[in-house]
Amino acid sequence: MVFEGLADRLQQTFKKLRGRGKLSEADVSEAMREVRMALLEADVNFKVVKDFIGKIKERAVGQEVMQSLTPAQQVIKIVNDELTELMGGTQSRITISSRPPTVVMLVGLQGAGKTTTAGKLALSLKKQNKRPLLVAGDIYRPAAIKQLQVLGEQLDLPVFAIESGANPVTIAERAIEYAHSHARDMVIIDTAGRLHINEELMQELKSIKNTVKPHEILLVVDAMTGQDAVNVAETFNNELGVDGVILTKLDGDARGGAALSVKAVTGCPIKFAGMGEKLEALESFHPDRMASRILG
Ligand code: GDP
Repeated sequence: MVFEGLADRLQQTFKKLRGRGKLSEADVSEAMREVRMALLEADVNFKVVKDFIGKIKERAVGQEVMQSLTPAQQVIKIVNDELTELMGGTQSRITISSRPPTVVMLVGLQGAGKTTTAGKLALSLKKQNKRPLLVAGDIYRPAAIKQLQVLGEQLDLPVFAIESGANPVTIAERAIEYAHSHARDMVIIDTAGRLHINEELMQELKSIKNTVKPHEILLVVDAMTGQDAVNVAETFNNELGVDGVILTKLDGDARGGAALSVKAVTGCPIKFAGMGEKLEALESFHPDRMASRILG
């Protein structure tokens, strides 16, 4: 499970601290040195770690800790608060338009989990009594269209696809017309990915964005790729603008660096976490629960 290594390291550090009773500044500094190492080993962005430790140190050598009867508890609370803040503070939801359909565009590199996530998101919305329409916008891989159609069948939800000739912008426009005429209140557009970011991909995504004006552009990134995921998020956000990130494969043994860095580096909140291959395995991302998971 994600954060396992980090959680072990931090829990050991705090166990030592708890054994101390009253804390000196040196005790706090030593603990912070260990926290810093643990975060770097978890592949958290270097600058993010630096800022994070700075903030904690400032609070931890202040009065609220030094004069407390349970200083170690106070330090842990501060780390918990700051970890929560680092991951976005509060839960970030997707915008639901007051004039349906709400259009959600999923973007990301090939293999990140975009198509699977489209299905997961559709299921989650269906459970909230929404009427999602899945849209096959990846025209370059016939297998991707098929994959989405299979998901649609499993979920008993319609999939809008045009199998030959149409470009992704036309497909998206027609899909929204279809949603209007068939009373679908959520449109989830699965777009094409590439192995790497390139100009052609960005141009295509920008054209779709400019034409259909989605309410949400969600970037799907693979947590297993660590800082690469953060770099991908930064580029997509600069080039296209991203409203939120969906971090997939958090059920694997990702070290957690992406989860802890992406908001601080890009400003984009993580909105959902993919926790497995099954369609039910999508969770809303709660920064406070993630922080508690790390601190045990
Ligand atoms: P796409 O190319 O971005 O559309 O990626 P796919 O949706 O085809 O997913 C690529 C692979 O990642 C598939 O084998 C999925 O089952 C797997 N996958 C997607 N999300 C998750 C997740 O949250 N956890 C795990 N373990 N696997 C996932």
